[in-house]
Amino acid sequence: MLRNVRCGTTRLCYVVESLKMSSPYFMQSSSVLTRSSSHGAGGGPAASLRSKLSSRQRDVDAVPARKVKVEEATVKVEYDEDDGASRVKAEHWEPPDWTKQLGFIREMRSGRDAPVDNMGAEKCYDTQAPAHVRRFQVLVSLMLSSQTKDQVTGAAMQRLRAHGCTAENIVATDDKKLGELIYPVGFWRNKVKFLKQTSAMLVTEFGGDIPNSVEGLVRLPGVGPKMAHLAMDIAWDQVSGIGVDTHVHRISNRLGWLKKPTKNPEDTRKALEEWLPRELWSEINWLLVGFGQQVCLPVSPLCSVCLNQYSCPSGGL
Ligand code: SF4
Repeated sequence: MLRNVRCGTTRLCYVVESLKMSSPYFMQSSSVLTRSSSHGAGGGPAASLRSKLSSRQRDVDAVPARKVKVEEATVKVEYDEDDGASRVKAEHWEPPDWTKQLGFIREMRSGRDAPVDNMGAEKCYDTQAPAHVRRFQVLVSLMLSSQTKDQVTGAAMQRLRAHGCTAENIVATDDKKLGELIYPVGFWRNKVKFLKQTSAMLVTEFGGDIPNSVEGLVRLPGVGPKMAHLAMDIAWDQVSGIGVDTHVHRISNRLGWLKKPTKNPEDTRKALEEWLPRELWSEINWLLVGFGQQVCLPVSPLCSVCLNQYSCPSGGL
């Protein structure tokens, strides 16, 4: 909705109201590691998605996909009145079609059947454990997940939980045994070392809990900004920044969601945070990771079944 308002004495402001969504991470309570495959018989993911989308309702608002809290966000664009011209002083840059593209991605993700939906970090902790242990397990699953498929991370977390996944118990577990428990996650030898060092710090400095700040989290061995922002969101339910992994980085560049192309996830995080409404920072990781697992694949993306194929600058890759 567009409306105009007075801003001060010399400027006329137009206010664009749009929708914003709340965090998706706590909208499902199931901790069971099951997967509703979208890759079943009948031609693989492209055919499966094409079949699903062929019967979809075009009206995004009508899709009863997810329980979300809807609030209002405001974007201001200011106009100078003093010279009578229509020269626009835009408060910030944003990509032209992003709201429509975001709606289509939500529609494509409405099945919630990507690996991240059942085996992501928010699904790997023991829901019956004390709060500080749940938070520790979220951090451990994030540490295991880098360079590793969600299915492999999920299986490693099941073994760790059966062994006893607390900071104290990880410290007491010898390296050989810990390696056997987490193998074959990517870079498992390094992760054994980081898990032991991080667990020891957490026992000594935080009583087995994890820090509740990005600054505290990135001090831990093996924890970078992406993990820290995701841990703040999932473990502490606080949005501190966008968790940009390889999927979010790749898709943001393909869709032209960055003022200029970026070369690494950290630059992508900063560029996205400049314009994307904060209310979407939590949802965007979950949305794009699953979208990247099912449609906008790293190699040979399924553009022919993507609802953004006509507006995406990279469509037809
Ligand atoms: S059109 Fe292709 S490159 Fe663009 S978002 Fe869709 S799948 Fe990705």
